[in-house]
Amino acid sequence: MKPLISPDEARRIVLLHSAPLAPIVLPHAEVLGFTLSQDMVANDDLPPFDNSSMDGYALLADDTRDASPESPKTLPVVGIVAAGSAIEYSIEAGRCAKIMTGAPIPAGADAVLMREDTNEQDVALSGRVQILAPAKPGENIRRRGSDVRQGEIVIPRGTLVRAAQWGMLASLGSAQVEVFPRPRVGLITTGDELVGLEAMLQAGQIRDSNSWTLRAMAQNCGAVVEPRKVSDDAEELRQALLSMFEMCDIVVTSGGVSAGDFDAVRDVVPTIADLQFWKIAMKPGKPVMFATRQEGARKIPIFGLPGNPVSVMVAFEQFVRPALLQMQGRSKWKRAQLRVRVLDSFRSSDGRTEFARAVASQEESGEWTARVQSDQGSGRLSTMTNANALLVVPAAMTQVNAGDVLMAEIID
Ligand code: AMP
Ligand code: MG
Repeated sequence: MKPLISPDEARRIVLLHSAPLAPIVLPHAEVLGFTLSQDMVANDDLPPFDNSSMDGYALLADDTRDASPESPKTLPVVGIVAAGSAIEYSIEAGRCAKIMTGAPIPAGADAVLMREDTNEQDVALSGRVQILAPAKPGENIRRRGSDVRQGEIVIPRGTLVRAAQWGMLASLGSAQVEVFPRPRVGLITTGDELVGLEAMLQAGQIRDSNSWTLRAMAQNCGAVVEPRKVSDDAEELRQALLSMFEMCDIVVTSGGVSAGDFDAVRDVVPTIADLQFWKIAMKPGKPVMFATRQEGARKIPIFGLPGNPVSVMVAFEQFVRPALLQMQGRSKWKRAQLRVRVLDSFRSSDGRTEFARAVASQEESGEWTARVQSDQGSGRLSTMTNANALLVVPAAMTQVNAGDVLMAEIID
């Protein structure tokens, strides 16, 4: 028998066949959660003008030398500069202007003394403010271009637009943004035994949970999901696959991919697509099938995931997620990995990488530990509902002992 490929090798093959989709242009208001397909270059300096970082008084630092609460200096206030003000003040030596945070620095001024270092009691009557502390030249002035310089790459392509990036795009005045589209995922759930939430359970039936876990995982990757439920009938599955090929960028199936008599995915997919691999040296998730379908100019990755509720999630996490992120041009798709001290002992299968569901947490000491639930049955969805990490047990390791240090992928 041919040795099974490793999860890393399987992922390498998957990524080879999951090319980024053709970019689209969207209005700024719609790009949250999309990935940039171009470097964002600044057309302007940010901030666009020298401005105050404090509420206080714009002045010449030289005029405040040796000022203290005991021997204050007194300066006439020639005006008030508000944020948004377009008035161009000019300050001469021996004078100052009241200034608000974000307001443009008047010409001539070289510092802003914060309000707390002044005494404003007499301002209304005398038009003069008392300076209680010396200002340093440049103090509390945000220089033009100090955040971003014109021409600089501010956000590289392949970056997900999250809160900070969305705001930065607005600061840069990017009204139209070029991004990778959301991949459309055809999600086919197979199984004669499966019924929905509304049905009364008949003998032998169970409720379909994979449609929901997979939909959530795909959406969390930025994809849009086209769901479909089919029976274990090969022809019905074939038709569903063919129509998904027309509509979707990627197809994911659940169930029907292992050694059973009615495992239709296993039989049908290789007849309408190019089989890339079937079965991976991992646990859970061994029967994963991967194929590609050439549909005109488009190459569609097809993932046949096993039906067991845990296997399907672990396999999605290991292979479909990287594919979806790469299709969106994401430069980073790896999960954060932590070194954890394992708190429980357990046996692990030989020759297969095990992804054990774990609860990783940080101890008072700062060290990360992982609790591993003893029954890791691949049908037990409850092992996933508690887990926030997948503990990676290398293929050659058959026994994990409490105290061992392993890597954990943080999936939450
Ligand atoms: P299969 O891979 O089709 O042989 O399914 C393996 C196991 O997973 C069986 O016990 C199925 O009943 C169960 N299963 C398959 N699909 C689903 C699903 N969508 N939701 C919950 N359990 C499922
Ligand atoms: Mg089945």
